[in-house]
Amino acid sequence: MIKLRIIIRIIRVSNVAVNPLERSQSNEEFTDCSIMAFMDNQTHLQSQPTEMTLLQQGSQQLQWPLSAPQIAQFVAYYQALVTWNERFNLTAITEYQEVQVKHFLDCLVGLQVLGAELKQPPLQERALTCIDVGTGAGFPGVPLKIAWPQSRWTLLDGTGKKLLFLQEVVEQLKLSEVNLVQGRAEEVGRQSASRERFDLVTARAVAPLNTLAEYLLPLARLGGFVMIYKGGSAPQEFMEARKAIELLGGDTVRLAPVQVPFLEEKRFILLIKKVRSTPHLYPRGQGLTRKKPLK
Ligand code: SAH
Repeated sequence: MIKLRIIIRIIRVSNVAVNPLERSQSNEEFTDCSIMAFMDNQTHLQSQPTEMTLLQQGSQQLQWPLSAPQIAQFVAYYQALVTWNERFNLTAITEYQEVQVKHFLDCLVGLQVLGAELKQPPLQERALTCIDVGTGAGFPGVPLKIAWPQSRWTLLDGTGKKLLFLQEVVEQLKLSEVNLVQGRAEEVGRQSASRERFDLVTARAVAPLNTLAEYLLPLARLGGFVMIYKGGSAPQEFMEARKAIELLGGDTVRLAPVQVPFLEEKRFILLIKKVRSTPHLYPRGQGLTRKKPLK
């Protein structure tokens, strides 16, 4: 019992530390059930430190089971993340179980929503051209690439050190068709080589939705999709961004509440289809996207 209390306290403390970086403002915590999974796993991991049990079970729950080589890639990614994090601040989430849930499974949940929309041929078989905007340490782009090898990715971030890390990840994991780009979304979205070129545009924890819509929609091709990962604030943010989404050429397909395995916090995936060309005015420059978000 005492041991359980200590574990609960550790989780609480780490949650508080994690929240400012995360997209959810919520202080909700792991449930008893996930704590039990956490403890079981902890015991198990003492003998098998590289199994990623939560990730394996969670990916099955998401109907997207991972093969042994894919799990090995996630293990290598985890190791690179914690090693680099000692020198560069890449993420506040570094604990083995928490990374599996709050980073890896949290990213993979998007496959469920997208897969339900793109059924024939199944998503697994589609070689979509995708861009992850504000990818940071590679979320959600790298987990999606590992789980869905057919996809082709551009990982975009404004910060050089994140791309140095990602370069190492791409080499170590032997990821093919992953292109790393340093740049601002609002500039890249004006360049003809990237404007309206992507089948899928993703972002997690980058900006409020009305700003984000202006970063992302210009990059999606007509008929393509924008997939945005949000926390509990999603419904409110969506109300404030609805008009902007429409103005930028988007048609909302779903604002889907999603269940990340082993996580009680609220998560949403917003899926938008690009149905009209984005007017040339957007994305605006000079920080207007951020300072004066579209209403
Ligand atoms: N998507 C990652 C990182 C979130 S932190 C995750 O979910 O963990 C936000 C990241 O977005 C940072 O790495 C920051 O450098 C990048 N970013 C913020 N605004 C950006 C912009 N306008 N263009 C490109 N990158 C941006």
